Amino acid sequence: MTLKLFNSLTRKKETFIPIEESKVRFYICGPTVYGYIHIGNARPFIVFDVLRSFFEYLKYDVTYVLNLTDIDDRIINRANQEGVDTSEIATKYARAFFEDIRALGVRPADIHPKATENVDTIIALIKNLLDKGFAYKAGSDVFFNVAKFDTYGKLSGKKLEDLRAGARVAVNESKNNPLDFVLWKSRKPGEPAWDSPWGSGRPGWHIECSAMSMKHLGHTFDIHAGGHDLIFPHHENEVAQSECATGEPFVRYWLHNGLLQIDGEKMSKSIGNILTVREVLKKFSGSVLRMFFLQKHYRSPIDLTEAGLQAAESASSRLKIFYDKLCALLDKNTLTDLKLSVLPEPFASLKAGLISAMADDLNTPTALSNLFEMVREANKLLSKEEHSVEELATLTLVRHEIEETDAFLGLISRDQTDLSSGLVSELVTFLIEIRQELRAKREWALADKIRDGLNERGIILEDGGKGTEWRLH
Ligand SMILES: [Zn+2]
Repeated sequence: MTLKLFNSLTRKKETFIPIEESKVRFYICGPTVYGYIHIGNARPFIVFDVLRSFFEYLKYDVTYVLNLTDIDDRIINRANQEGVDTSEIATKYARAFFEDIRALGVRPADIHPKATENVDTIIALIKNLLDKGFAYKAGSDVFFNVAKFDTYGKLSGKKLEDLRAGARVAVNESKNNPLDFVLWKSRKPGEPAWDSPWGSGRPGWHIECSAMSMKHLGHTFDIHAGGHDLIFPHHENEVAQSECATGEPFVRYWLHNGLLQIDGEKMSKSIGNILTVREVLKKFSGSVLRMFFLQKHYRSPIDLTEAGLQAAESASSRLKIFYDKLCALLDKNTLTDLKLSVLPEPFASLKAGLISAMADDLNTPTALSNLFEMVREANKLLSKEEHSVEELATLTLVRHEIEETDAFLGLISRDQTDLSSGLVSELVTFLIEIRQELRAKREWALADKIRDGLNERGIILEDGGKGTEWRLH
C-alpha cells in the first residue's frame, strides 16, 4: 500500500518512504501547559492520532513522541497571577491535558518528554550551536544567528530579505538581528532557572522541540507534525537550529493541519470566543468531536458551529446504533462454521475505497462516506426479519471490517465520554443547584454527600469564584 502525504517542506503530496523499513519516527508539538487546551488545539492531537493509528493498521512500527512545554512565559505569568509555583501550574494543566485527550479518544504517545526534564540535552544542543558559530551570547542570553543558515525560510517559504524588512527589534532586546531568536534566556527575578555555562536561566521554546525530538528520534526522523500556525517561526526555527547543529536534514515530512474558526471568526482573546475542549465536552461527547474533525480534511480550515457539531452527533449516533444492532444480532446468532471468508460486494469495494482514501493524504471525509455507505448497505441486511447463513456470514465479515477501521478512526470503541452527554450534563447541573441550596441552608452533610457521591462516579465538583464547575476525573 502506497501512502501519500502532503509535505509542507516541498509543498507537494509525496509517497511516504520511511527512513528505516516499516518504522515511523513521528514527533508532534504538544501543549504549553498553562491552561486548559482550546478546541482548536484538539485538532492536531486527533488527526495525527488517526494517522499514527493508520500507520499501525498498515503494520508500521511507530514511535510517537508528543512533548509538553512546562516552562514558558505564559506559565510563569499564570503562576504569578495565582500566587503559586510554576511547577504547580504545569502539573495541574498537564494532568488536565491528558484527561482532555483521553476524553477525545486520543491514545497517549509512546514518549511524553517535558522541557524541564531535558534541560541538560537542551544545554548541550545550545553549546553545540555556540561552538560551531551558529549562535552568540548577548549578556547572559544566547541567540541563534539566522544569517548563518543559508536556507532559512525553506519550510515556510518566507524570504529572509522580506522578513527583515518587516521585522522590528523590541526595546531592551540585545540581539544583533531582529530575526535572531532566543535559545537561552537569562534568569529574571522570581523566575525558575537552571544553571548553564552562560549563567542561570531557562531554555527558549524553539530549542526545546529540537532537543527533545532528536533525543528520542535521531538527527533525521520521518514526520514532524503540528498546527499550521506553528510553521513560522516555530518549525522554521527548529529546522535551522537542528540542521546547523547536526549538519544533517532534520525531518523528512512536515505535516500541518488547518486552523479552526468559531462561527466564521478566528478564535481570539479579544473577540472573547475561546472555547476549551472541556467546555465543548459538556455538550458533545469525545467521539462526536472526533467525527466533527474527521468529516473535514485535516489540511482544510474548519469552522466550528453548533449545526456542524449536531450533524457530527447524528452521524456518530447512526454509526453507534448500527454497530450495537449488528453486535446484538451476531451475538445471538454466532456462526460456528464461517463458510464465507471473502468479503462480498459492495462491501469489499467500499472498504478498499476507504483504505485508499486514508492512504491519499489522510482523506478522512471520503473514508467516512465509504464507511457510511457500508453501514447503509449492511442496514438493509440487518433490518430483515430472518437471516440466512450467508447473510449472517456477510454481517460477521462486515463487523470485522468496521472494527478494523475503527482501530484507526476511533469513532466507536474509543468513546470515553458518555458521562458528558447532554442528559448527564443536565442532571449534574441540577444536582449542583440542589447542593447550593443545601449549603445556603447550612445542611452540610447532605451537600457533601452530593459532592462525594458524584466524585465516586468520576465527576469532580470545583467551587470557585464563578460558582461550581464540574469536570470528569
Ligand atoms: Zn514544537
